[in-house]
Amino acid sequence: MIAPSPYAKGIPVWREHGMASAGRLIELFVSTLRPFCDPTVVEHSFLTPAAEYRAVFGDYANVYGIRDEAGGRHAVFRPDNMVQNVAWLEARREYGPLVAVGGLLRTLRGPAAPLFRDRYMWPAVQVTHLVARKRALETLDAYQHALEDCFTALGLPVVSVRTRALTSYGDPCYLAVSCLPDGRPTVLATSYVMAAQYRRGRALAEDLEILDIGFTGKVIALVAQHHWDTRGLRLPSAIAPVSLGVVLDGPEESAAVRGWLVRQRAEGLRAALMPAGERRYRRARAERRLHRRGTPLIVTCGGGREPYGIVRRAPLAWQQMPSLPAPEQIHAELAGYDQRLLENARSRFEEGLERSGMLTGLCPSCADDPKNPVFGWVTPTSLRRCTHCGQPGKRALVSATGRFY
Ligand SMILES: [Zn+2]
Repeated sequence: MIAPSPYAKGIPVWREHGMASAGRLIELFVSTLRPFCDPTVVEHSFLTPAAEYRAVFGDYANVYGIRDEAGGRHAVFRPDNMVQNVAWLEARREYGPLVAVGGLLRTLRGPAAPLFRDRYMWPAVQVTHLVARKRALETLDAYQHALEDCFTALGLPVVSVRTRALTSYGDPCYLAVSCLPDGRPTVLATSYVMAAQYRRGRALAEDLEILDIGFTGKVIALVAQHHWDTRGLRLPSAIAPVSLGVVLDGPEESAAVRGWLVRQRAEGLRAALMPAGERRYRRARAERRLHRRGTPLIVTCGGGREPYGIVRRAPLAWQQMPSLPAPEQIHAELAGYDQRLLENARSRFEEGLERSGMLTGLCPSCADDPKNPVFGWVTPTSLRRCTHCGQPGKRALVSATGRFY
């Protein structure tokens, strides 16, 4: 997905397949928003007027900027999209949501970790939605639910917590928390009702709140960390550039296979044909080529005694088929595969966050005890008996090591 070495520290180089998956991720996210809103997707100019940015964020030191010598105007290299998102909505007298895509550039101190800690964060998805104050919380909840659906579809188990660990940006602040393969928690998305200070310089109506929801390509990195086998990445079907590989083990594409492929594509499957070629072990080679690109499912056609076959992944298995599978069968196979990916990652999530005691029930008085450092409360509120004293309480995420990212 990305080149083995960066362009410069903290600037990873994306390859074609990675960019295709990033595009799919954005489409998936936007489609999870559609049930409750009508999003517009934009990419703003990379040069953000410095004065507008500083009016909102103050004189932040983590940005790169230039001075346009001809115009004498200062600009910053897009470090965040919120200012331009709000300006875009105000200019059109719209409320949003506006989904800004593209990359964000910020200075980086210390080591880089590709897609986890970068100087240039791409893709960076940032939603701005202006909402009446009385509807702000329910709308933020709807976004959080959409984010959870999106990450779950990618085989990433997630819990949402309401936290005060980052209060300077907004209140409330929700974090979507998933886990690394070793079970440690990691933040996948942030959602805020922006704090009052970020309305500076804006003539927003008094009863409007700014909602800000964001995530980055780290989502794809976490998918890659969880989902792989000896053949390469096992991409969730929603973001695999090819969701159905077809290996044709014969001299040419028969009319039956061609017609079947057209039907699969009409059903929304991203099907790719891979001719097996003339060499020995040709079908195995063609399969490996598809698997290396993260392809979840392969149908094999022709090649001697078996007319058709299906190659499943997670785990890898081949099964003979009497005929070419119908689109419904392909969809069911992909849903089963996605579910197996999610279950694999969920066992790590349960081990790392639940059995470790990080996600636990706490009553108000035990939550005040410094021995139980509450990082955030699970949202929507989930009632649980306190693990320490048995009194009625709520589910909380405690973190002895403080903040995590
Ligand atoms: Zn208690």
